[in-house]
Amino acid sequence: MTARLLPGAPAAEALLADASARAARLPAPPHLVMVRLGDDPASVSYVRGKDRKAREVGLTSTVYALPETTPQAELLDLIARLNADDSVNGILVQLPLPAHVSEQAVLHAIDPRKDVDGFHPLNVGELWAGRPALRPCTPAGILYLLDHYGIPVAGQRAVVVGRSHIVGRPLAGLLLNRDATVTVTHSRTIDLGAVTREADLLCVAVGQPHLITPEMVRPGATVIDVGINRVPGENGGKAHLTGDVDPEVARVAGAITPVPGGVGPMTIAQLLANTVAAAEMQAR
Ligand code: NAD
Repeated sequence: MTARLLPGAPAAEALLADASARAARLPAPPHLVMVRLGDDPASVSYVRGKDRKAREVGLTSTVYALPETTPQAELLDLIARLNADDSVNGILVQLPLPAHVSEQAVLHAIDPRKDVDGFHPLNVGELWAGRPALRPCTPAGILYLLDHYGIPVAGQRAVVVGRSHIVGRPLAGLLLNRDATVTVTHSRTIDLGAVTREADLLCVAVGQPHLITPEMVRPGATVIDVGINRVPGENGGKAHLTGDVDPEVARVAGAITPVPGGVGPMTIAQLLANTVAAAEMQAR
């Protein structure tokens, strides 16, 4: 048996089509502003991808590419101006930030109503209280993908591997809000395989290539692979991307997301959907 593949593209397209139809009903195209500091190649490429997609679906997008040495006070000033600017609906500061800038200070400074990354403590609190608010993009995109493919969540035993603020924790909260029975595992978990084998729904966000092997997966389980790891090619060949889940897991799982092309496209689509949702909220 081979697992059913759950590609992100069709689900992302459905999410974007809905977001773009809602955007067209607003008085003006929702406006997303992204800020990045320095020239970290991954950050440059992420912001470029989000900017391109935003324009494609009819949003307005502005990118501030600031020098790596930008003082924290200057960045906070810019955020304050964007908060006060009614023509701006969503603000995203690309992480990670250079060491001289406090991530906490920046995330606290963004108006929670424009916090399209969903990382402001107010929005984190609303998530854990089960109240509506802007949700972190990768976890919310994963829930959309599960729904798109008709994979049940309520009542299922969900195991989340990884407890980052960006993926693992908020994903656990979203699954709990949807009535899954949730276990969160991490680097200090004893006998990870014994826990992951319990999962009907196994979500892995660690950043270690092929951490999850077939014997760690219950036959028939749904496996969501969030990991994006760049690994060198064999014998000096071209580097390629691989997930946190060993491709051999497809032999035992019931359904599995590919890497690349699984969760990745959902993250950008959800960011744009969040920007539309923020604009709708602000229009009310
Ligand atoms: P992180 O480094 O912030 O967190 C990793 C987590 O894994 C930590 O909580 C740690 O406790 C846990 N961990 C480490 N070793 C472990 C082990 N042996 N067993 C169990 N848990 C262990 O990473 P992150 O930001 O959550 O990202 C995780 C991966 O997801 C990365 O590969 C990243 O590139 C990818 N990612 C993908 C997307 C996407 O859109 N597809 C978005 C965000 C992150």
